[in-house]
Amino acid sequence: MLLPRFKKWHILSKIVTISIVSVGFITMIILWYFMPLVEEKMLEGKKEGVKNVVDVAFGVFYEYETLVKNGSISQEDAQKQLAQRIRGLRYRENDYFWINDMKPIMIMHPMKPELEGVDLTDNKDPNGKFLFREFVAVCKTHGAGFVDYMWPKPGEEKPVPKISYVRLYEPWGWILGSGIYINDVRNDVNRLRFYMLAGTMVFTVLTISFAIVVGTGITRPLKKVIEGLQDIAGGKGQTALTKRIAITSIDEIGLLSSEFNSLMDSISNLSVFKKVIEEDDNLEEVYQRLAEIFTQQIGIERCFIYQVDNAKNAMQLTYPSSFDQAEMQCNLAILDDNDLCKAKRTGHGITSTIFPAICRQFTGQEGTLHYCLPIVVSGAPVAVVQFVFDAPDSPSGVKAMEAKIFKAEQYINESLAVIETKRLMRSLKDSALIDSLTGLNNRRYLQEYTEKIVAGVLRRGKAIGLIMCDLDYFKQVNDTYGHNAGDLVLKETSKVIRQSIRDSDIVIRFGGEEFLAVLLDVGEGESIKIAEKIRENIQQLKIKLPDGVIQKTISLGVSEFPADTGTLWSCIKFADVALYRAKEEGRNRSVRFTKDMWTEEQV
Ligand code: GH3
Ligand code: MG
Ligand code: MG
Repeated sequence: MLLPRFKKWHILSKIVTISIVSVGFITMIILWYFMPLVEEKMLEGKKEGVKNVVDVAFGVFYEYETLVKNGSISQEDAQKQLAQRIRGLRYRENDYFWINDMKPIMIMHPMKPELEGVDLTDNKDPNGKFLFREFVAVCKTHGAGFVDYMWPKPGEEKPVPKISYVRLYEPWGWILGSGIYINDVRNDVNRLRFYMLAGTMVFTVLTISFAIVVGTGITRPLKKVIEGLQDIAGGKGQTALTKRIAITSIDEIGLLSSEFNSLMDSISNLSVFKKVIEEDDNLEEVYQRLAEIFTQQIGIERCFIYQVDNAKNAMQLTYPSSFDQAEMQCNLAILDDNDLCKAKRTGHGITSTIFPAICRQFTGQEGTLHYCLPIVVSGAPVAVVQFVFDAPDSPSGVKAMEAKIFKAEQYINESLAVIETKRLMRSLKDSALIDSLTGLNNRRYLQEYTEKIVAGVLRRGKAIGLIMCDLDYFKQVNDTYGHNAGDLVLKETSKVIRQSIRDSDIVIRFGGEEFLAVLLDVGEGESIKIAEKIRENIQQLKIKLPDGVIQKTISLGVSEFPADTGTLWSCIKFADVALYRAKEEGRNRSVRFTKDMWTEEQV
């Protein structure tokens, strides 16, 4: 019954109750066991004291006995002198000696001289006790002993409890006695009891105060933790994440507080991160930022992010930039066939920490581990994050690595919704950057990505070849075979151009029947050769129509960036100038731009 109720108590109540019960228990032991024991011992001590002083005073009898024996004094004189000496003896304020004989007649009483010579056989105290008879009886049987009775204190009338020690001097038949007043002992005991009670009270107050301090030291941080968790669970948002607990101790509560604080830190970091990426411009920036968190904040040594292109069954390296493929720790073939990537194919994490060589495409050095994590959105992997670690050489290293991966996964999870939205936005935008007739990128695409393309090429110290292509007498096709036939020619032409260059190069439908081939990382003088290849391929292209076969030629103008000029768009202009020259010189040819053409043009 009591136990389940006790379970419901607050910790503070429990601690305080336990301390009150303990203190109460100790107090009870003191009051009911220890104090009576002390009282008894004190009384014993006092009685022992009285017995001692009586024994000491008794020495006077022996003194006189010697004097009587050697005849220097008569027994009568000795008795007189002794009574006189004893009369003056005092050992404490209220304590005196008296002498009576065995009749019993009072011989000497310093406080009540009127009793001297009086027979006290029938003297009794208020309780009816014949005390003098008892003195005699005790002395007769034991020679000495204690008797308790009622007797007034010196100078007072009212009898109070007293214990006296009486001892018989046999040769004279005299009894020497002295006693203690119980009340005096009681006073001493009460004083002691008062000190003990006061001490107990102080002890109680201190103990309970300490219990409260300790208790609140536990409950206050706990309350904050509970409030913080309730706020998070209750979805109070950003304000909930600002809660921190002051760390005031280094015990378990201190540990709990600091763990709570770091939990809040990481939740708040995550939520800030989410806000930041939500406002990022595009998917690439989100991946870039994730990678920065992984490498700079979480401390993962190397990180690669591949985006999955399901339409082409391909993958692109997104981080580091796609132009840094040389640094890849995977077989390059995964870029063209994304099913080679085990993480992408299976849709779950693939790690060589569990099984070495788990993925054959991993080309990292010996002693490095990989952890590949697909980013799955709406059931399909849209990217793969690859972490590469130097294999840890201790269990603590393994733990640290796992902790990093765990943190990274939290960030990935946090960004999933954002990635999904950005992908949707990108596919909408992509459609705006693609020419619907040929499926090639349009001029807006080039405008959009100019900076990135240029930055990559410049970083690698390479060049861009620009080939502006324009079909010769294309107008005639429309005029002769109709617009649909013209469209077909444009489609076929774009395919041929696409096939004449590398996959990593870009083809733009620049205008009506104008195409711009952007050749990335070309060597010097290479572009004009590729232009020639395109020209020849177009020349050989036979386009079948319902009412005949068309064969067209194409003219091409070539320029190179940054050799010809420092900005890509003026370089495109130069390619156009060269194209104009090719038309002028009779069409179906490629012309490499030279500086003089531009001067002429300007003139
Ligand atoms: P050249 O370039 O050799 O000087 O002669 P051209 O006949 O090709 O010259 P021009 O640039 O004047 O003609 C381009 C024609 O391309 C004009 C236009 O009708 C046609 N054209 C532009 N866009 C399309 C298109 O999308 N579909 C079709 N069918 N024709 C198009
Ligand atoms: Mg033309
Ligand atoms: Mg034209």
